[in-house]
Amino acid sequence: MLGLRLHGATDARLDDLPEPEVRPGTVKIRIACAGICGSDLSLYETAPIPVDWPHPLVGETGPHVLGHEFSGYVTEVGDGVDDVPVGALVAVQPSLADGTCPACRRGQTNLCEQSGFLGVNGGGGGFAEYVVVSEHSVFVLPAGFTPELGALIEPLSVALHAVRRSGISAGETALVVGGGPIGLGLLLCLRTHGVARVIVSEVSPSRRELAAALGADAIDPRDVDPVAYAREVTAGQGADASFDAAGVGTATFGPCLEGLRKGGTTVAVAMYHEAVDIDPGTLMLTEKTCTGSFAYTRDDFQSVIDAIADGRIDPMPLVTSRIRLGEVLEQGIDLLRGEGRDTEVKILVTPH
Ligand SMILES: [Zn+2]
Repeated sequence: MLGLRLHGATDARLDDLPEPEVRPGTVKIRIACAGICGSDLSLYETAPIPVDWPHPLVGETGPHVLGHEFSGYVTEVGDGVDDVPVGALVAVQPSLADGTCPACRRGQTNLCEQSGFLGVNGGGGGFAEYVVVSEHSVFVLPAGFTPELGALIEPLSVALHAVRRSGISAGETALVVGGGPIGLGLLLCLRTHGVARVIVSEVSPSRRELAAALGADAIDPRDVDPVAYAREVTAGQGADASFDAAGVGTATFGPCLEGLRKGGTTVAVAMYHEAVDIDPGTLMLTEKTCTGSFAYTRDDFQSVIDAIADGRIDPMPLVTSRIRLGEVLEQGIDLLRGEGRDTEVKILVTPH
């Protein structure tokens, strides 16, 4: 089968690989759809995980197949798997956790001491034709789901977890800096959560247009100061919660913190390109909370599936292109690193 493996920085290759074999407690999935994530671009650019390092929960060295947002059809199940029928359309929660460390025992499996991801640390990935995963990573999707919806559950789970981390309530105002897949996913989750106003600050005109169509106050930070705007629409108070979904550095985190009301919470939900200076004295005076949000738990995944199933969230407007596995480098990763950064949101990949 074909699989896109990361051999080193800016060296990903479509390799001919043996099909993975099902083992007890696992299911074999014919991949139907996989999304390209901003973190795939970072991995591609820097290859931060040594190819010869076996992740302790996976136990295999690289090069590893990329792609951690995916869905597919079950073709075979291993011994002991009773709850996943052959033929079912499934989504895969790619995050790995040992289940035994203190964080896992607290229920914070996303903070596991041995945290890892399928499609990053080995164990197969979405940019391939088949994958074999633990039955516990699989969600059998309800009737009405398509493979494309299945591939969008993962990024929406990132967004939902961040919304939960913010503590924002229905009727309140949110500021989202960055209108990429996570920023727009935050918008969808915040609207579903009953948040009255969501301000999205984004430089790309097409992403701004999409944010506006999805109900945001979409502003261009080069024309409209996000901090001034957030205060203006809240009678001078500032947003109840804010989210940095861009991670540029002070340029994006600064407005998130400044645009908050006293006692509000800002959530870092991006990989940062540079460090940010914070004056703790400001936090003391205002009781603002700065926190982070990392990935998701099984409960976040299930909540997103439920919200899509009953129509509270429709993520399909985030899909801007559909390509084949053979095109994933040029029409996917390279495009998103170049001009596609301004014109694309989510690119979905199908094997054939
Ligand atoms: Zn753990």
